[in-house]
Amino acid sequence: MDADIVVIGASPAGMMAARNAALKGTNVILIDRKEAIGNPTHPANTFFKGMFDKTGETVDQSYVIKNLKGAHIVAPSGGEVVVQSPAYFLDRKKFDEYYAQQVRKAGVDLRTSTEALNVVRSEGVFSISTNEGTLKSKLVIISDGINSRIAGLMGMKPIKYPRDIAWSMEAEVEAPDLGEPDMFEYYVGNHAPGWKSTYSPCGGNRATLGVYVRRHGNDVSLFFDSWVERFKKMKGLDDISFISKSVGGDPIAAIPGEIISEGVMVTGGSAAQSGIGYGMHAGQLCGDVAADAIVKGDVSARFLSEYRKRWNQEYRNEYYLGRIALETLRKMTDKEIDSIMQVFEGEDLSFIQGDPLVKAMRTGLFMLTKKPSSLLAYRAALRRK
Ligand SMILES: Cc1cc2nc3c(=O)[nH]c(=O)nc-3n(C[C@H](O)[C@H](O)[C@H](O)COP(=O)(O)OP(=O)(O)OC[C@H]3O[C@@H](n4cnc5c(N)ncnc54)[C@H](O)[C@@H]3O)c2cc1C
Repeated sequence: MDADIVVIGASPAGMMAARNAALKGTNVILIDRKEAIGNPTHPANTFFKGMFDKTGETVDQSYVIKNLKGAHIVAPSGGEVVVQSPAYFLDRKKFDEYYAQQVRKAGVDLRTSTEALNVVRSEGVFSISTNEGTLKSKLVIISDGINSRIAGLMGMKPIKYPRDIAWSMEAEVEAPDLGEPDMFEYYVGNHAPGWKSTYSPCGGNRATLGVYVRRHGNDVSLFFDSWVERFKKMKGLDDISFISKSVGGDPIAAIPGEIISEGVMVTGGSAAQSGIGYGMHAGQLCGDVAADAIVKGDVSARFLSEYRKRWNQEYRNEYYLGRIALETLRKMTDKEIDSIMQVFEGEDLSFIQGDPLVKAMRTGLFMLTKKPSSLLAYRAALRRK
């Protein structure tokens, strides 16, 4: 046996799973096919403090490029809802290196340039074949990102609604003072069906622009091009320079499916646990349960289901409500989106607190009191589209 646990993929979730399992005394190897952690850099580079707080980690300014105050959510008509909440634009390479250091400090054997090619189980032992030879372990954690190849090879479907993955194109851009504002801007409407377009300032002249679109295929370049043109017009910019462009899938609210089988656990984007903060927390839950399984000598799916149970307790309602919200948004007309957003314009939204169901009820009640007709927009949820 080379290790108790082999983790495939040093995603934020994979690193947390490896670190937590090692901190509980198990012997862990974490492999990633990248040449170095953080290189190439993942385009996910922002988060809100509230979401990151779920991890119990503190934000370290060594990897923060810019501190932001929150976000403007902009309706198709241009009306805005302001969400005040500390947020961060990260130097993603430094962020990954910071956690790689923690992973190593916890005793994990972190191996880069090592790609898992296949995983087979025989008599309770996993053989993970890689370009660097075969590794043997008692348990495998898969965290190889969206559309997990390894989970697929093992016959698992870790994302319940893969059609819901929001496909994205994001670019780092430059124009005079583009990076100066201290709020993100998220635009909703039919120019980015089912999710949003984004403007994320990161200081000086730099920012990122992105689109995230559901159920329109994974090439969203046309949506992106028209978003850039609209953005330039809105901000009165003649030109924008493009520094780099990324594409990928964000499994936001695509709901975890089969994330456990005998001796196998799936975590992070590969399990639809989207977002850096939520992914990391899911990785922590996964690593804790994995270590307990090794200590008990029981890596059965039954024992490992504790991971799903803990995740469900924390996130299930939020993810299902998120899915309903995004699906409804996707089906709404711009006029319907405007009518809902008008209810919240200029309001202090701090009353929307509590667990996800309570939040949903408070929001519904507020709409009912302020503008009952706005609730009619939710008819869109029943539309076939
Ligand atoms: C363009 C874009 C922008 C986004 N922006 C944000 C954002 O700002 N904030 C946010 O919270 N979320 C954002 N997201 C969502 C985000 O991608 C994910 O939620 C998050 O990064 C989780 O990463 P992951 O688990 O999917 O894995 P990844 O970060 O993709 O990591 C998977 C790792 O596995 C490795 N790997 C893959 N296959 C193998 C193999 N066979 N063997 C060994 N290693 C392997 C890869 O090299 C990689 O390091 C964004 C998504 C996209 C597409």
